[in-house]
Amino acid sequence: MKKDVVIIGAGIMGLTCAYFLQKNGRKVTIIDEGNITDSTSFGNAGLLSAFDKTPLSNPGVLLNTFKLMLKGQSPAILHPTLDPKICKWLLNFAINANSKRTKKTMMLFEKYGEISLDLYKQMIKEDNLDFDFHHTGMLSVFTENKTYEAKLKNYNYVDEDRFKILDKSDLSEYLPSANEKVKGAILFKKNAHFDSKRVMLELKRHLEESGAEFILNEKIKNINFKDKKVNYILSENKNFYEAEHFVLSTGYQTLLSDIRKKPLLMTPAKGYSITFEMPEVLKPKTSVLFNDLFIVMTPRRDNVRLTSKLEIGSVDKNVVKKQIDSIKKNFFEYNNKFEMKEEVHWSGFRPLTPNDIPLIGRDEEYNNLSYAMGLGWLGMTFAPALGNIICDLIVNDKQNAKSDDILLFSGFYQ
Ligand SMILES: Cc1cc2nc3c(=O)[nH]c(=O)nc-3n(C[C@H](O)[C@H](O)[C@H](O)COP(=O)(O)OP(=O)(O)OC[C@H]3O[C@@H](n4cnc5c(N)ncnc54)[C@H](O)[C@@H]3O)c2cc1C
Repeated sequence: MKKDVVIIGAGIMGLTCAYFLQKNGRKVTIIDEGNITDSTSFGNAGLLSAFDKTPLSNPGVLLNTFKLMLKGQSPAILHPTLDPKICKWLLNFAINANSKRTKKTMMLFEKYGEISLDLYKQMIKEDNLDFDFHHTGMLSVFTENKTYEAKLKNYNYVDEDRFKILDKSDLSEYLPSANEKVKGAILFKKNAHFDSKRVMLELKRHLEESGAEFILNEKIKNINFKDKKVNYILSENKNFYEAEHFVLSTGYQTLLSDIRKKPLLMTPAKGYSITFEMPEVLKPKTSVLFNDLFIVMTPRRDNVRLTSKLEIGSVDKNVVKKQIDSIKKNFFEYNNKFEMKEEVHWSGFRPLTPNDIPLIGRDEEYNNLSYAMGLGWLGMTFAPALGNIICDLIVNDKQNAKSDDILLFSGFYQ
């Protein structure tokens, strides 16, 4: 039987698309090759950090990364490769690392970050969803004098709603584990955090209870096109599915867009997380970004999560112990020693675009196909805003050109 909307990929992007489509009266089927327990949307830091956020491709990034590499603290790893796709991505990344682009991206981050935060709050309230959500700001901690002083120059005014420069006693209250090597810290008050695993499980539960169909352990391996439409999709288990509309939200994986011959300029960027229990008195008061180390520490109801690393040119899914050790070594350089109990190690891939702008919108040739891809390193932050935009295209049968949001915030038009 022909389905209404089929969403391929049940990460945060697929689930938020499903959420808004369902709210708008559409019947959704969500297909995933896994059992929805371990994707990137589960293992990330859970920061909702669109505010005062410098994009990844920024003017100082190449030089700063090189300096950290010399110190042995670089979170970025680039595996030598001749893959033309990665070379093209790197070239575009370097081109986008300019101040004009950075300024524009930061404004877009604020606009869509605000929309997303409001939508998350609405979801929590309307549907009684438990995301372990805290709108308590994000602490940016500096371990290098130079970057701290450069940042202070941008915040040499008072805006109590937006930020607070912490003194030593504030810092030990917010981050009790910090040691004397920390150079300074700024609390960016508009940011928030949640427990991403909880978010995924709550959304799935809610969608199922409201009538969404989940088909798990079903890898889609082909698409059939006919008369300028997707005719059906085919799974490895030889099942085929017809639908009014299809949404591709397959994270870093591009098998299906490659079949469509739609080259998506994004690359998998591997990251790690370490989730552990720690004494309540030592837990940070809110989420913490160790700015110069690219390490995030997120307090959650039952535990704490550290995330780090950005590895380009590898699609090895295994957790590499050397990287876990390196995260811990860098972290404890600026934190007093404590025991991490019940450690769980994880790795996964960010679908990274070279300008931090997602790849969303309708296919211009095959009208019943939409892309919800390229969420990058801030996918949890922007997912509800993006899910809502995709929903608007489908429900109102809107072409990309008629959607201001697509023209503003889709990498297809930037
Ligand atoms: C270490 C780390 C820390 C991060 N921290 C943050 C953070 O603090 N804040 C933030 O906003 N973002 C963060 N991110 C980024 C964020 O996690 C991602 O942007 C987001 O999870 C991507 O969601 P997605 O739905 O696009 O992809 P995914 O979560 O990868 O989901 C894609 C799904 O598609 C399925 N799939 C793929 N191909 C097929 C197929 N052919 N057939 C069927 N199913 C298929 C997969 O099984 C998967 O379940 C972090 C990422 C990492 C790695």
